[in-house]
Parts: sequence; structure tokens; C-alpha cells
Amino acid sequence: MAIRKVLRYGEPSLREVSKEVHKVSKKVTDLVRDLLDTMYSQNGVGLAAPQIGENVRVFVIDVSTNDEPLNPIVFINPKIIKKSGAIKSNEGCLSFPEAYTDVKRYKNVMVKATNEHGKPFVLEAKDGSLLARAIQHENDHLDGILFIDHCINRFEADEVLEKYNLPHIDPDLLLDEKELEEEIAKNS
Ligand code: ZN
Repeated sequence: MAIRKVLRYGEPSLREVSKEVHKVSKKVTDLVRDLLDTMYSQNGVGLAAPQIGENVRVFVIDVSTNDEPLNPIVFINPKIIKKSGAIKSNEGCLSFPEAYTDVKRYKNVMVKATNEHGKPFVLEAKDGSLLARAIQHENDHLDGILFIDHCINRFEADEVLEKYNLPHIDPDLLLDEKELEEEIAKNS
């Protein structure tokens, strides 16, 4: 449909809690197309609706590699229903061009969502796979949470943000994730 502008970190709407989708209408399927077109145009692994200025609970992910056929997965009204383990994950985000930092994530997640045809599904992603991490990253966007809020080292993360002329870490928004921290420290 259309490649849309990806909002950059600093845009207030990236911090908003998005609204549930009540019906998978044409408006929603058009939005899904735009999300996919925009994600592929930027070589992204995932993109959430708030990143293109639509605060609704929709995101898309494609973890296929260049030599594989495209494999888009559409998540509407997703809910993470199970999570376990912990892993250090080096992440970036299309709303933070070029800025990467280490964050804390669960290793395994199970997510329940509706697809673009209005069908509910459950998906499990394990072992700290790209899919497992992407699901957590994109799902966070729907609650106004950004990957830097999970950073392992806020000073390191801040340096990266500064380097790419992005706003600083907001210490009040850093998440308290002691259990994940302990588990990661134990395994490293
Ligand atoms: Zn992101």
C-alpha cells in the first residue's frame, strides 16, 4: 500500500499506550500492509503501529533471512501469556536509527494474538531466538515502552543515544528487572 514515515525516538506518541482493535476491518488490514511495506523498505525485523503514528495494538514481524522466502507474522491485540528465562540481547529499533545497545529480555515467550484474517493464534518462541526477542520488543511499543528502558547499562546506552543525536535515557522510565538481571549475571 504505502511506505510510511517511521517516527523517531523523542516523538511523544511513541510513549503512549495503544488502543485495542475491536474489528479486523479494511482500515486495519490496510494498516498491516503499510506496516509490512515500511518494515521491508527499512530492512527491519519488526514494526509496531505506534511507530508509524497509529496508536493501535498491531505489530508485524519477519525474521526470515535474505535467502529465505518472506515470512510475515501479523499480531493484532497480542498478549504475552507465558515468559521464562533471561538473556542479554543486543537490539536496535527503526525509531532509533543506527543506535544499538544491550538489553534484558526473557528467553522464552508464548504470545496469543489475532492475525490479519481475524483468526486467533498462539505462538511460542524459545531459546532467546530473534523471534522471541522481537515479540517482546514490538509488544512493548504498544505500551509506550522502548528497548532502551530495558538497557543493561544506562550510561553505555546514553552514550550511544548521544552519538546518534537522540534524546537521553529517562531514568524514571528504566524498568526494574532484578530477576532478569540476576539470571543474566548467573549465566555469563
Ligand atoms: Zn522498536
